[in-house]
Amino acid sequence: MAKKVAFIGLGNMGSGMAANLVKNGFDVCAFDLSPAAQDRAKQDGCTIADTAASATVDADYVVSMLPNGSIVESIYIGTEGKEGLLSIIPKTALVIDCSTIAPQNSRNVGAKATEAGIKFIDAPVSGGVASAAAGTLAFMVGGLESNFALAKDVLAAMGANIFRAGDVGAGQTAKICNNMLLAIHMTGTAEALQLGVDNGLDPAVLSEIMIKSSGCNWSLEKYNPMPGVMPTAPASNDYQGGFMVDLMLKDLGLAMEASLNSKSSIPMGAAARNLYNLHKNASTEDQGGKDFSSIQQFYGQSAND
Ligand code: NAD
Repeated sequence: MAKKVAFIGLGNMGSGMAANLVKNGFDVCAFDLSPAAQDRAKQDGCTIADTAASATVDADYVVSMLPNGSIVESIYIGTEGKEGLLSIIPKTALVIDCSTIAPQNSRNVGAKATEAGIKFIDAPVSGGVASAAAGTLAFMVGGLESNFALAKDVLAAMGANIFRAGDVGAGQTAKICNNMLLAIHMTGTAEALQLGVDNGLDPAVLSEIMIKSSGCNWSLEKYNPMPGVMPTAPASNDYQGGFMVDLMLKDLGLAMEASLNSKSSIPMGAAARNLYNLHKNASTEDQGGKDFSSIQQFYGQSAND
C-alpha cells in the first residue's frame, strides 16, 4: 500500500515538492491556508484536507514547507489555547520540516516531538522553485541517523542530493552557512563585473575570462548577474523569478542570529546583508521581490550617481 504523506505549506516550493511525491507513488493529503494553493495541489493529484490536523490522520510522514520559524513552532507545538500537531500526529510517523528557519526553532520542535514520542528531522533545501518543480533539490538534514535513513525515500522523491549535517538543527545551520556564502559570492561577482564595465570591458568577455581564471564561482558561472550575459539567468529577464531579495535577507538575518549565538565574526556576511538591505530600499519601489542577482543594479546605480 502507498505510504501516506501529510504535506503542509503548498507555496512556491511546497507545491512542486508535493507534486513530485504524488508522481513517485506517495498518497499525499495536503493543507495550505490559501485556497489557490489548495486548488493547484488538487490538480497535481493531492487530496486536500480541511485543516492541518486532519491532513495528518494515519500519516506515515508529515512534511512541512512554511515561511518562518514562528509559524513552524505554532503549527507543531501550538499556541495558547490551541494544541499543536505534535499532540495528534500518529506516534509511528516521521516529521520532516523543510522550511528554512533558525536552528533553535528546529531544536524546540525536535525536543517537543521527542517528548511526544514522535520522530523529527529538519531538512531545509537548496535549489529554489525550479528545482522544487523538477525534483532536484538538495536536502540538508539534521536528526538521528535512524530518522535520516527513514526519510530517504521521501526526500529522494523530491531531491537529487541528500546530506546529513548532524543532529536536529544542523540542517538549518548548513543551509544558513551555504546561503551566506552564496550572498557573498553574488555580491562580489556583481562588484567585479561592475568594475570591469565601468572601465570599458564587455561583461560577457570579462565573465568568460574569470570563469576560466581564479575568480570563478557559481554566481558568475551559473547565475550571471549582468543582463544579457546568460540568456536563461533571471538577470536577462528583468530579475524576475529565481530567489527573491527578501528571502536572501531572511537567510542573512538567520546567519547574523547564528553568529551572535556562537560569537563568530562574519564581516563578509554582515556586509552582504547590509548591501542587500540597501538594495531593497534603494528606490521608491521595494526591490525585495526581485531575484537576488539584482544586487547588480545596486552597483550599477552607484556608478551612475
Ligand atoms: P511561500 O510563501 O510561497 O509558501 C508558503 C506557504 O505556506 C503559503 O502557500 C502559505 O499560504 C502557507 N502557510 C503559511 N502559514 C500556514 C499555516 N499556518 N498553515 C498552512 N499553510 C500555511 O514560500 P516558499 O517560497 O514556498 O518558501 C517556503 C520555505 O522554503 C521558506 O522557509 C523559504 O525560506 C524556503 N526556501 C525557499 C526557496 C525559494 O526559492 N522560494 C528556496 C529555498 C528555501
